[in-house]
Amino acid sequence: MQLVWFRNDLRTLDNTALYYACKRGQPVTAVVAITPEQWQSHGDAPVKQSLYYRSLLTLKSSLAQLNIPLKVIETANFTGLPQQILDLSLQLGCTAIHMNRHYEWNERQCEEELARLAVQAGIEIQRYTDQVFHEPGSVLTGKGEYYTVFTPFKKNIWPTLTQQPPQSYPVPPACPASAVTADGIPCWLEADEAGLRADLWPAGEEEAIRRLELFVERKLPLYGQLRDIPSQPGTSTLSPYLALGIISPRTCLHYALSRLPEARAHQGAEAWINELIWRDFYKHILVGFPRVSKHRAFKQDTEALAWRHSDSDLQRWQQGQTGYPLVDAAMRQLNQTGWMHNRLRMVTAMFLSKHLLLDWRLGEAYFMSKLVDGDLAANNGGWQWSASTGTDAAPYFRIFNPVSQSEKFDPEGRFIRRFVPELAHLDNKTIHSPWLAGKVANYPAPMVDHKFARQRVLDSFQALKEISA
Ligand SMILES: Cc1cc2nc3c(=O)[nH]c(=O)nc-3n(C[C@H](O)[C@H](O)[C@H](O)COP(=O)(O)OP(=O)(O)OC[C@H]3O[C@@H](n4cnc5c(N)ncnc54)[C@H](O)[C@@H]3O)c2cc1C
Repeated sequence: MQLVWFRNDLRTLDNTALYYACKRGQPVTAVVAITPEQWQSHGDAPVKQSLYYRSLLTLKSSLAQLNIPLKVIETANFTGLPQQILDLSLQLGCTAIHMNRHYEWNERQCEEELARLAVQAGIEIQRYTDQVFHEPGSVLTGKGEYYTVFTPFKKNIWPTLTQQPPQSYPVPPACPASAVTADGIPCWLEADEAGLRADLWPAGEEEAIRRLELFVERKLPLYGQLRDIPSQPGTSTLSPYLALGIISPRTCLHYALSRLPEARAHQGAEAWINELIWRDFYKHILVGFPRVSKHRAFKQDTEALAWRHSDSDLQRWQQGQTGYPLVDAAMRQLNQTGWMHNRLRMVTAMFLSKHLLLDWRLGEAYFMSKLVDGDLAANNGGWQWSASTGTDAAPYFRIFNPVSQSEKFDPEGRFIRRFVPELAHLDNKTIHSPWLAGKVANYPAPMVDHKFARQRVLDSFQALKEISA
């Protein structure tokens, strides 16, 4: 008997651990752990947990078709989980445990502990690179160090990634049946149905492949032009499916590569593969610099930055009541749908950390508590980039002007009108800065002046330089 431990790899197509476990030609059992306290301590959003729960249901039935029963371990957190997995494998008479590697600190500790216990018990342990194109630690600079800048990282891997891409694995054939019975999947979600947005984020591998095919066929050629326009459905919206491993990054890569040779789609495919590499880059950073997993700034000198403290300012930002229409529309998109467009993640993150001078960690945690695609590596990377505390970060003096961003990326105010209906009646110019029209009913005045805020954050970063000089 072989055991496969599923975590954020909820699929049967191109699942490395599953594929190799099945290849042994023996009966296979799958196991998943339900750890609500752990997820709560990681700040996982209810909308993300809902997608996880619903995806477990679809995974269970896909596995059943392969004669693989899914066992469930219910436990509050990771403490004791490795022992429980080991006990299950001993009870089932498993000779090997297979799992795809995870890169977050707690997940890695849990994995290490299981490996240690398994070796002691004489059970083979197999860990696979699956979430990323290359195992963190295998792509290093000439000096043998982790890359801390994206472009050289990308240049290093691009030729092989595009010419000899990592292998994908098919759905394995059905395994020999066993007498093991599958467990029921308990629902641990408490939030109300409406907030869980199952309508927007259907579960399952089929849905992920449907989105990928639609995107690659129809939108990829224009991705370069449309990816920054939040009113257009110009991106794949695959992030929740990638974050939970409902689809593999290799499957995405292979679809994009198939269009790379076409003149019409080349630029879009290249730009999209670039984004998939950003995803890898931040996972490598997580392993190379574990402090970023532990709420620490990548640039250690920025730990001394004099962040302001204001619960009311934080709340206004969270609720989309800053008085800057694009920022507010974006925050409301996040609150209502569990997802936010990439351009707007940068705009809102910069607004919190630069205009309001509030600690980026507050924003990182809020995003995590709302995002359906919440992913420690990408979220932390994006926040630290925006706050100029991270790897390859925006220089501290680059401060997006929320009005010019709005004029540039939502020129007709279509996105703003969708999420801030109070402003829908304004013309295409005034909608970006409604204060020009005087007081607008039910909409606040800007909570901070751009020029003033810009100078304040510049002074704070300057003071930091003086401290470290
Ligand atoms: C402050 C901030 C927070 C973010 N938090 C998250 C997060 O928690 N989870 C998350 O998946 N992404 C996060 N991102 C990255 C990015 O915004 C989302 O991946 C993207 O908006 C998802 O939409 P999509 O699937 O349509 O992307 P597409 O444009 O279709 O891109 C394809 C895939 O590439 C990956 N990707 C794209 N951009 C990035 C990026 N900048 N960094 C890492 N991976 C990327 C995603 O997996 C995405 O699904 C964050 C960015 C910022 C600036």
